[in-house]
Amino acid sequence: MEHPENNEEYKGLTVNQGVEQPSIVNPYINLRSRPKRRQFSVGEYVEGIVKGDITMLSRAVTLVESIKPEHQAIAQEVIEKCLPYSGNSVRVGISGVPGAGKSTSIDVFGLHVLEEKGGKLAVLAIDPSSERSKGSILGDKTRMEKLSVHPKSFIRPSPSAGSLGGVARKTRETIILCEAAGFDKIFVETVGVGQSETAVHSMVDFFLLIQLAGTGDELQGIKRGIMEMADGIVINKADGNNIEKAKLAAAHFRNALHLFPAPESGWTPQVLTYSGFYNIGIKEIWDMVYGYIDFVKKNGYFDYRRNEQAKYWMYETINEHLRDSFYQDPLIADMLEIKEKEVLNGQATSFTAAKKLLDVYFNQLKK
Ligand code: GDP
Repeated sequence: MEHPENNEEYKGLTVNQGVEQPSIVNPYINLRSRPKRRQFSVGEYVEGIVKGDITMLSRAVTLVESIKPEHQAIAQEVIEKCLPYSGNSVRVGISGVPGAGKSTSIDVFGLHVLEEKGGKLAVLAIDPSSERSKGSILGDKTRMEKLSVHPKSFIRPSPSAGSLGGVARKTRETIILCEAAGFDKIFVETVGVGQSETAVHSMVDFFLLIQLAGTGDELQGIKRGIMEMADGIVINKADGNNIEKAKLAAAHFRNALHLFPAPESGWTPQVLTYSGFYNIGIKEIWDMVYGYIDFVKKNGYFDYRRNEQAKYWMYETINEHLRDSFYQDPLIADMLEIKEKEVLNGQATSFTAAKKLLDVYFNQLKK
């Protein structure tokens, strides 16, 4: 058909009839039959992980982090089968407020332990803020320049979906997979905001708290509970004209620690100063960590703490599943908002509202 613009009134302008363009997709490729990314069997995952295959490890961790029930089912089986190969590692929790120098420090800490002790290092993270901000501020590869390209290290950012308990459980399960893959050093990084420390503390052998020297009143800002958890406190940025301030801060922390009851481990928490940026005092920190590990392995506390942690995680997992089952129940989800309004309006007390919801839930289970 002639193009309408080739009419008399459009003088000087001739538009040729268009030529049909060939498809940019190769017509001989049958898209339907293209293989999807292959789903591996539990056995293949386990075999790959135990051989130390990083791709298989990463894929398995992705399953652990997935919220899809079919992924979870495979993940749980893989974890179960990896369990006998796990446990043989030193797990260190590293915490500090943003800006304390965690990523700079973990980079140098990691290189130091790999050089000094050999083996392989996995850096994981628990970042409770990542759900809200939709991006993890921890465990990011680009923050650890040297480790991220080190052949013996594996860096994985925080799982982002779910409650703190859910995120922490996934990290704990990832620890098992990493250990089965031969990672004998595990760092779990967290940001110093309170609850996430408790979660990290419940999965590591040594809890290292990174602090900064401030104006002399640095102790005010940190919660007593966090200090009590620490097996070691290290004051970063002890360099340049900050050295004296760091030493003073260390003295304050030492005094404060004296006021706490003696830890169950029998170990006296130590306070050291260092500079992650200038690589000063790093060896001392890791001598302390490994000194602690020797100490608690000898006095039996190492195994005791790990057993207690296993018990803790059993209950945590039960709690998490019960909570999910309750809140994800469609009937409960519908009623929750109504009951919440009633409580806010003073039409019902918190207890009667809660009781009503629980009754509905449990009655439904009986059916
Ligand atoms: P994070 O938020 O805890 O991971 O902290 P970063 O590792 O990103 O460090 C925050 C800032 O402190 C960066 O600008 C670092 O360069 C700086 N920094 C880290 N370690 C040191 C140190 O030992 N000395 C000095 N002077 N600065 C440091």
